[in-house]
Amino acid sequence: MTPEELRSRVAEFREKHDHTRMEPLEYLRARFDAGLAWVHFPEGAGGLGLPRESQREVEKAFAGTPSNRPEGNAIGLGMAAPTILAVGTPEQRERWLRPLWTGEEIWCQLFSEPGAGSDLAGLATRAVRDGDGWVVNGQKVWTSLAHRARWALLVARTDPSVPKHRGLTYFVCDMTAPGVEVRPLRQITGEAEFNEVFLTDVRIPDAHRLGAVGDGWKVANTTLMSERVAIGGQAVPREAGVLGLVSQAWRERPELRDPALYDRLLRLWVEAEVVRLTGQRLRQQLAQGEPGPEGSAMKLSFAELNQRLTGFELELLGDESLLYDDWTMRRPETVDFAGRSPGYRYLRAKGNSIEGGTSEILRNIIAERVLGLPGEHRVDKDTPWKDLPR
Ligand SMILES: Cc1cc2nc3c(=O)[nH]c(=O)nc-3n(C[C@H](O)[C@H](O)[C@H](O)COP(=O)(O)OP(=O)(O)OC[C@H]3O[C@@H](n4cnc5c(N)ncnc54)[C@H](O)[C@@H]3O)c2cc1C
Repeated sequence: MTPEELRSRVAEFREKHDHTRMEPLEYLRARFDAGLAWVHFPEGAGGLGLPRESQREVEKAFAGTPSNRPEGNAIGLGMAAPTILAVGTPEQRERWLRPLWTGEEIWCQLFSEPGAGSDLAGLATRAVRDGDGWVVNGQKVWTSLAHRARWALLVARTDPSVPKHRGLTYFVCDMTAPGVEVRPLRQITGEAEFNEVFLTDVRIPDAHRLGAVGDGWKVANTTLMSERVAIGGQAVPREAGVLGLVSQAWRERPELRDPALYDRLLRLWVEAEVVRLTGQRLRQQLAQGEPGPEGSAMKLSFAELNQRLTGFELELLGDESLLYDDWTMRRPETVDFAGRSPGYRYLRAKGNSIEGGTSEILRNIIAERVLGLPGEHRVDKDTPWKDLPR
């Protein structure tokens, strides 16, 4: 489909569907059914099989119409959807993708555990086969959005007798099922974006398994690669985000300026621009395909840069940046860097180098899988999981 054909398809849809006379949800569902939701997805799954970059044009063409509020469903859109698309059966795509895209159903990610974060393959949550389903027991932690989510991406151990990477299976867990308990976890910013999740005899139908039994590690990697692109790979205009706020303060408040800070600001500005342009190039390379390990570099650069920029902002603003705007335990639906105080930005940015894989782990991935350097020494990769010390 040429760009002109896409434009006329959008125009035709807009002519037939008057959003001022339709319920927002009805409008969004019709948009999905017309393949104009995420046009880089295949036909029948809300898309038209076009290159990823076409989506920007479509978003512009739908400006002012009902929004699916992507900021409230980052895990659903950024991670669950590509995973379901990559390994889901036609029935699973049919069941989950439309309400995910319209925002009717929010998703979360039940991966990390108290004893397994960077070493995700070591996780201990057990899923045991029981008739036409599975019974799951375990504890997950740092689960963003679990308190809002209808569905969760879950990795559990189905075979403890084989080495850790091989005994895992990937499921979709109904967060409203009996036995799922969600408790808020308060973080350094004062708010509770995330939760502990306790799973006690939770039944999951086998039809909610994503991928083959024992393939959980492979499927989890599809999710993790998408997560890194979702966190670090967003298209941003020049001088956006924290850099924009800092540059604005510099321009509008001459009393804050000093030559040493000026030099650092210029360096940060150039680095931000390099990261932005590199991201643009990588997104073009991605086209329709699944993200590879290069996404780890984007996420790593974003995290490091955001931490340095938020630190710089505190220095620039001096004493006034020490005033904190809100310590109440809020349950935000999204991370609001622009709408909160410099102190919040500084504290929240600390999590950037932990969420979605720590910077150390991302450096390992880049070293091994992008640069081809020798791998980390892994002594436990051939030992059955049940024999590993914990
Ligand atoms: C804001 C936020 C939101 C999150 N949301 C979710 C979510 O929704 N769902 C979810 O499942 N998880 C979530 N997480 C958890 C996140 O994925 C984990 O915190 C992360 O993977 C690190 O695991 P850990 O905390 O267990 O630290 P550990 O793995 O214990 O790491 C501790 C330190 O050791 C270092 N380290 C560990 N192994 C190595 C190694 N091999 N080489 C070098 N250094 C190493 C790490 O880099 C780190 O500095 C979230 C975290 C944050 C901060």
